This record gives sequence, structure tokens and C-alpha cells, in this order.
Amino acid sequence: MTSSSNLIDGRAIAAQVLEELRPRLERLRTRGVQPGLAFVRVGEDPASRVYVGRKEKTAAELGIRSHTHVLPEATPESELLALLDRLNRDDSWHGILVQAPLPRHIRAERIYAAIRPDKDVDGFHPVNMGRLLLGDPGGFVPCTPAGIQELLVRAGISWEGAHVVILGRGNIVGKPLAALLCQKAPRANATVTLCHSATRNLAEHCRRADILVAAMGVPEFVRADMVRPGAVVVDVGVNRVADPARPGGTRLVGDVAFAEVQPLAGRITPNPGGVGPMTIAMLMHNTVRAAETLTA
Ligand code: NAP
Repeated sequence: MTSSSNLIDGRAIAAQVLEELRPRLERLRTRGVQPGLAFVRVGEDPASRVYVGRKEKTAAELGIRSHTHVLPEATPESELLALLDRLNRDDSWHGILVQAPLPRHIRAERIYAAIRPDKDVDGFHPVNMGRLLLGDPGGFVPCTPAGIQELLVRAGISWEGAHVVILGRGNIVGKPLAALLCQKAPRANATVTLCHSATRNLAEHCRRADILVAAMGVPEFVRADMVRPGAVVVDVGVNRVADPARPGGTRLVGDVAFAEVQPLAGRITPNPGGVGPMTIAMLMHNTVRAAETLTA
């Protein structure tokens, strides 16, 4: 297939999700509530700067108030914890997001556990992770897995009974996505295989997938011979690779060798323009929900 007819348009679907938030924002506004989303970025990781910038921009477009606290790379863990404590107690902030990755001297699990679960719009607090595993809809689901679920549902693809193979068991994408999709619940009910670096015969698992999700951070790992013709392919990876032909000497590629996989996939997410915009849309969705709940 050389046309773009099998593409799943993440930008368009994310725009729909954001549009649907507007009436909810309007209802909050009539009650005098403007949702507030506080970002915390530690250090100057270039990708983190871009990601937080995009999230701030989308928040502004929706009328969600945001502010980014930028802390130097060498910030002690105790200082970051003190900032989170202040944000936890400040009623004008309904959502708090600490952008990953954090510097090595900061224990990410301590940081995520220090955010109030009802302001944890990124969904990484152990309470929210636990709720996700238990199938309790009262928690916040991490934005990328939630976005992948929403993306395929809105693209008309059913997870129900499908064999989903996820490549990567990271805490941000693979593991919570597996927990989400294996639930006995509408929009889930999938049979999930979770692969990682110790998986034997990984390509064979991939070829048995109805839906293949690549979330490893390995450039163009998924090749055509790993995909069953007609399978749905979701490319989550964002990898910067050298490319002397480009002005900056680099370019971004996904975890899927798109040019060779697209022709045989049933449906496929472009990258960029697939999962990324959905991650941001689900963050806004979680923030509006947090504001509604905290001010009810
Ligand atoms: P992570 O925590 O580093 O996890 C990577 C996973 O991939 C690990 O489970 C690792 O296995 C596995 N893996 C790595 N190399 C492998 C190989 N050769 N064979 C089999 N498994 C392998 O990464 P993450 O935070 O989940 O992120 C994954 C990717 O998604 C990254 O490219 C990231 O930039 C991207 N991402 C995109 C978005 C978005 O909105 N588009 C959001 C978040 C992340 P082990 O566990 O055995 O080490």
C-alpha cells in the first residue's frame, strides 16, 4: 500500500479529545474554576524541554493555567520534594507533572510517590498504578497508555479478544499498557503478551500479534518480517539518530521501520503524528478531571 489510507491519524483524534474538553472547561469556568497544571522539569534535557513546551502550549490553547518550575540539574532530591509538598497544598494547582527523565541522583519512585494521588495527572503514583492494576476507574491512568487505548478505540479498532503484543515493559508505557488492556472491561479485554530484552523468540511473538505496540526506544527495531500482514501496528518510540544529511545532523525515528512495515500493516500509527499528540490530549483530560474532582 503506497497511499496513506491505513494511517491512524493521532493528530486528528487528539484534536477531537481536546474539543470534547471545552464544554467541561466552560462548566468549570462558570463555577469560577480555572484548572491549573504545574510542571516540574529538572535539568536541561533537550527532549524534556520540547515535551514540556508542547504540553504548556496545548494547556494555554484550552485555557488551562500552567507554570513550569525549572530546577537546575544538581537540585537535591529534598528540594524537589519540598516543591512538590508546596504544590500539593496549593489549591490553585489541580495537576502536577514531573517530567521524566530525572537526574540519576534523584530517585524517581520517591518523587512520584510524593505527589498527591488526586493531583497525579501523570498516573505514576503507586496508588494510581495500583488502581490501574485492580481495574478501579477512580485512579489516573498514565497518559501514553491511556492515549494508545483511546486512539485505537476512536480509530474503530477493537482491543476485545485481540492478541496484543507489547514490546517493552517500561513503567511509563509497556507495563501500564499491559495492565490497562488485560482488564475485564469495555475497551480492553485483550490477550496481552509483554516482551522485553530477555524474551526468547521475540520475532515469533510479534508475528502472532493482531495488534503490535512497540515501546522500547530502539530505532526501527520492528521490521517487515516481524509483522503479520493485516496487523495493527502502534509505534510509541521516539529515537534521535544521526543523519548527516539533516541540518542538525540528526533526525527522529520510531521503533518501527515505517517504510517497510506500512505497506503490509492493516492500520499503523505514523510517527510523529500518532501516539505523541494523544499523550498530551490525555494529560489535558486528566487535568480537567482532577479540577472537577478537587472542586466538586
Ligand atoms: P524504558 O523504560 O527504557 O523501557 C524500554 C523497554 O524496552 C524495556 O522493557 C527493555 O527491556 C525493552 N527493550 C529495550 N531494548 C530491547 C531489545 N533489543 N529487545 C527487547 N526489548 C528491549 O522506555 P519507556 O520509557 O517505556 O519508553 C519507550 C519508548 O517510548 C522510548 O522511545 C520513549 O521515548 C517512547 N515514549 C514515547 C512517548 C510518546 O508520547 N510518544 C511517551 C513515553 C515514551 P528490559 O526491561 O529487559 O530492559
